Amino acid sequence: EEVAAFLKRHRVNVSGTDVPHPIKSFEMLCKEHKFQPFVLRNLKTFGFKQPTPIQMQSVPVAVHRRDFIANAPTGSGKTLAFLLSILHQVHSEEKSGYRAVVVSPTRELATQIYEHLRNLTTGRKVKVCLMTKANAAAQAQDPAMRQKYDILITTPMRLVHAIQNGEADLSRVRSLVLDEADSLMEKGFLEQVDEILSACTSTNLQISLYSATMPSSVEQMAKTIMKDPIRIIVGTQNA
Ligand code: ADP
Ligand code: MG
Repeated sequence: EEVAAFLKRHRVNVSGTDVPHPIKSFEMLCKEHKFQPFVLRNLKTFGFKQPTPIQMQSVPVAVHRRDFIANAPTGSGKTLAFLLSILHQVHSEEKSGYRAVVVSPTRELATQIYEHLRNLTTGRKVKVCLMTKANAAAQAQDPAMRQKYDILITTPMRLVHAIQNGEADLSRVRSLVLDEADSLMEKGFLEQVDEILSACTSTNLQISLYSATMPSSVEQMAKTIMKDPIRIIVGTQNA
């Protein structure tokens, strides 16, 4: 099947330069994108058999380290899409501090993402930090604690607070995910997003933005923070 026909059948609309091809199965993660076998194992264990359309297209785009906007309806599996992308990039225990950050608009969502990621990293030494008041305080007291985590899941306010107090080092972050970007904008978190971006000083930073809707505020933000972005739009069932 041609790529174009495959995408059409799954209602995936994609635009941009040199767009990487979609995956048709989770097996392709290992076969074509050098994912470690544990990822496939844990996907099976937790009952994920087939990628959803947003996962098919956004994971290979992320693996190629492209900036992108992913627009797909609620319930379409955006969380697993960005968690897989992160797991491809952050698999070793380098002890060098955060290499990936997920910013989520609410604590409840951040907690769900954290639990999802804990499942996917079962049996691995990847350390995931859910930034709460309590462990932000613990990290403030003990700088060594900040080095032990690989991936950070946080709300914008909590992270900005930590940055301003010198408690979060984002200089090694290679992947920044903004989840529910529409909600981040609605809640007025643009300033916080800017501050987080300024703290991600690596020249090799990849940015992805996930959203169920694409208001102009989100388009505008994407335009100002991304380099040569790819845009992935997954249609609804009867769109
Ligand atoms: P979204 O963020 O797009 O609103 P979620 O990431 O919260 O959606 O996923 C919605 C539900 O779909 C969750 O229960 C999740 O576990 C499930 N899900 C995600 N990907 C798959 C998949 N590939 N196969 C089966 N279920 C999936
Ligand atoms: Mg979501």
